[in-house]
Amino acid sequence: MSAVELPPRPAPGAKAEDCGNLVDGERRPGAGARLDVNDPFTGQTWARVPDSGEAEVREAVASSRRAFLEGPWAGALPATRAKLLHRFADLVERHAAELTQLQARENGKAVREQHAQTLGLSAHLRFFAGVAETITGQTIPVSARSTFHYTVREPLGVVAALTPWNSPLALLMWKLAPALAAGNTVVVKPSEVSPVSTLRLAELAQEAGFPPGVVNVVTGGAEAGRQLVAHPDVALVAFTGSTAAGRQIAAAAGGRLARCTLELGGKSPNIVFDDADLDAAVEGVVGGIFAAAGQTCIAGSRVLVQAAIHDELVERLVRRTARIRLGDPLSWDTEVGTIASPAQLDKVRSYVDVAASEGAELVAGGGAPDGADGPALFFAPTIFTRVKPEMRIAREEVFGPIAAVLPFDDEADAVRIANDTAFGLGAGVWTSDVGRALRMASSIRSGTVWINTYRKTNYVSPFGGFGDSGIGRENGADAVHEFTATKTVWIDTGSGIADPFNPFA
Ligand code: NAD
Repeated sequence: MSAVELPPRPAPGAKAEDCGNLVDGERRPGAGARLDVNDPFTGQTWARVPDSGEAEVREAVASSRRAFLEGPWAGALPATRAKLLHRFADLVERHAAELTQLQARENGKAVREQHAQTLGLSAHLRFFAGVAETITGQTIPVSARSTFHYTVREPLGVVAALTPWNSPLALLMWKLAPALAAGNTVVVKPSEVSPVSTLRLAELAQEAGFPPGVVNVVTGGAEAGRQLVAHPDVALVAFTGSTAAGRQIAAAAGGRLARCTLELGGKSPNIVFDDADLDAAVEGVVGGIFAAAGQTCIAGSRVLVQAAIHDELVERLVRRTARIRLGDPLSWDTEVGTIASPAQLDKVRSYVDVAASEGAELVAGGGAPDGADGPALFFAPTIFTRVKPEMRIAREEVFGPIAAVLPFDDEADAVRIANDTAFGLGAGVWTSDVGRALRMASSIRSGTVWINTYRKTNYVSPFGGFGDSGIGRENGADAVHEFTATKTVWIDTGSGIADPFNPFA
């Protein structure tokens, strides 16, 4: 990623920006309390947003419902939807540096990754602009005389998009682009940690020409999310976040028979065989768990290493980890930024104690990096060895830069340990044996398997989890199916009057 010029941070002591919700095409202040948005590198509060509750959510859903049923968006032609998505993509491209800078100031992710993600947003929009004009049904030859029978895919109505803080814009785009391509309207509830970049993205959607109400944003915490999920006019809840919140959301949506898609947590294995290219494997393992300070759902947090190369690989990992450049997320030299919030930093720290008390051996990191005594929420890339599959550090998602190294004997042992988890989001396999790669890909129970690579995602590539990692798939042209319902149409082409008491005649 070549460096682009980013807008500078506001001067120290600058007044925090007051941001409203974006509802019905206008900024609204919200009636209740406000939430601080903090820069995890400087510690400064740089924005405030409404802590929305029932009233704000009700307004936003009503506006999106109106936009779905009336006005220019209701029944907008596929070509119109595609054109708006392309215009939106143009604006995202034009404002990419600004969006990157906003996200990095919210969650502390280094811009070298963040900016690539921002540029990916417009590619995502363009792909789904194409999809908008290819949402087809089927003509199905039903075995009944004089019958023409076909299906169409229709938008659902108001979609609620609930997003986490680690990749606020990308994970929103995975929902927003297919939802809009299919003709839905969307109410977004971003994480309380990262609401400002989402508000700006929604403003760009409006500038692109999406009518008021098609994309609304209500900020706030879990309570705003709960109100949105419970709202009877929300047809689909598209959620990315923790497994714990996902369970509550599935129960609430299920209680009123609303649809939901859930992209949840993970404890992904990154498996290194003794026939692997170890230079490549070391980079893949280090990037898999330490990129974005481990705050990714697909973090390769369980590093499974074949016994014959265990000690050598650990030594190489420790050496490589020591060279990782932690620093200001807004600097292009930085490889790893900060932990996103003090609460998340506490959680990460607590797992160091958990792992140590369970008997794992700390061989790298374990706390603040040397010389880090400022306000930045840094945590040193950390490696534990002698981890056993039953330890909490091997079972629970930390969502931070902690690698748990587990040895294995052979292929069967690797599969057994890899699948010994409630999650099933990603998995990496490092081997030079093609047959083994294919056997592992088929035996591991996870939504994605990477062979001799790790952490790649793309708008054409279906993404989602097994088990506690979620329900449904995002990305890829078929993702649009999650945002549509199939309608079946039967037409009698005129063979005369049918027997009213036997529809099968
Ligand atoms: P979180 O579950 O705490 O919050 C996610 C969003 O849901 C936020 O907007 C939050 O305000 C809201 N929320 C929380 N509880 C809610 C409830 N009961 N009802 C309605 N809304 C609620 O997650 P987080 O801490 O923001 O993000 C980290 C988690 O996200 C990790 O577990 C990570 O694995 C997961 N994640 C998954 C993916 C994926 O694609 N599978 C991607 C990124 C992050």
